[in-house]
Amino acid sequence: MRTILVVEDEMRIAGLVRDYLERAGFEVVVAGDGEAAVASARGMRPDVVILDLGLPGRDGLDVARELRRTSTVPIVMLTARGDEADRVAGLELGADDYVVKPFSPRELLARIRSVLRRTDQARAGGAEVLRAADVEIDLPRMRVTVGGRVVDLTPTEFQLLATLVREPGRVFTRAQLLDAVHGVAFESYERAVDAHVKNIRRKIEPTPGRPRYLLTVHGVGYRFADA
Ligand code: CA
Repeated sequence: MRTILVVEDEMRIAGLVRDYLERAGFEVVVAGDGEAAVASARGMRPDVVILDLGLPGRDGLDVARELRRTSTVPIVMLTARGDEADRVAGLELGADDYVVKPFSPRELLARIRSVLRRTDQARAGGAEVLRAADVEIDLPRMRVTVGGRVVDLTPTEFQLLATLVREPGRVFTRAQLLDAVHGVAFESYERAVDAHVKNIRRKIEPTPGRPRYLLTVHGVGYRFADA
């Protein structure tokens, strides 16, 4: 059975989430503050951590930073609407995804399943051909096809698209995408990512103005469609 650590100080929300996830077949442990969260994560080694960013005392970003020191456990953040800066900071600390409050337990469950699927795929080892939706990326040949049609991409566009397709559904900030492409992130170059994305869309999207593969996550970055 998979175990989920829910870190949330509002007991009404924690209870609701626990009941729903238990009914979905998970074992659930609740921690009401940051200190308890770090201790529980060390002791129980959960498969996923649901982490509210707004916690009394040690806040969620601090907890994420602490967890990432020793663990690669998937982290799904719970964030308040309008907390875009925290969302970006959390993703850059290594959190995997987020859900915006108020959320439905069903939406949270979908995020958890998606994050577990990605973890399982990553553990299964690096495939030399990546596939998501009807986009296929042959890494050794640096060849991209969309619905069987070959698309020519520049090396930077190729790397950027491969990063997104390797983990469909995962949200990447612009800085993370730059980092994946150039090995280093500079704040002032983040707009360069938008330019690359625009070019990739022109090449792979049937309707570049209404993308179905390479999706914008407002205020955060980009994600590749995960269905
Ligand atoms: Ca809270």
